[in-house]
Amino acid sequence: MARRGLLIILSSPSGAGKSTHSKRLRAWDPTIRFSVSATTRQPREGEVDGKDYHFKTEAEFRQLVSENKMLEHAHVFGNFYGSPMDPVQEAISEGVDVLFDVDWQGAEQIKDSPLGQHVLSVFFLPPSIAELRRRLESRGQDDKATIDKRMAQSWDEISHWRSYDYVLVNDDLDKTEAELRTIVQGERMRRDQQPDLADHVRALQDEFARLG
Ligand code: ADP
Ligand code: 5GP
Repeated sequence: MARRGLLIILSSPSGAGKSTHSKRLRAWDPTIRFSVSATTRQPREGEVDGKDYHFKTEAEFRQLVSENKMLEHAHVFGNFYGSPMDPVQEAISEGVDVLFDVDWQGAEQIKDSPLGQHVLSVFFLPPSIAELRRRLESRGQDDKATIDKRMAQSWDEISHWRSYDYVLVNDDLDKTEAELRTIVQGERMRRDQQPDLADHVRALQDEFARLG
């Protein structure tokens, strides 16, 4: 049976584990396509343009928005971020799942878009605020001022936890990864993700009638 692609949204406060789980999920199923966001933030060490993000100037970003090329966009931690529309539509029409690492504003906009019925949204909570800070520091990619800014915003992000389909406490990495896989496997079987089911039921009905 063919199936429709899911729009898998991962959100969390910064440092709670979105990127880690996004990478693990794609390693588990390499057919899942990552939605590479556009951003005006500066690249971090090791980040590759076109793979981690499409790095843009503010003028370039505004141009993309004004041409309606973004499925969603938001201002986060002083920079613009957005998900380009075309690769998402392409993947969904091919029955391929797309993975988004976006904040709560992006998640809301994708849910409200015409593709909203195909959304699976997952929110990661940290085991504690002290552990969240420890993870941001151990990642070693941001200076203290940036970490302070992200910590200060973390409650704002956490306060939206109820808007998500699933909420996972990312304490043990392997346990949480297994939970995420289970969720994805289950959601792929949703009735509205299986477009051929109606034809199958019609065929069953015809057969039923034939058999009298
Ligand atoms: P985000 O993408 O949400 O900002 P990351 O995935 O970059 O967060 O995780 C932040 C840091 O925490 C990384 O160094 C990552 O290796 C680590 N990390 C993520 N999940 C766990 C976990 N369950 N246990 C311990 N460390 C974790
Ligand atoms: P970072 O700078 O750490 O890569 O990302 C900062 C925040 O921006 C994270 O919460 C991340 O989920 C969010 N983000 C990344 N890409 C997008 C996007 O395309 N749209 C939105 N709305 N948020 C994004």
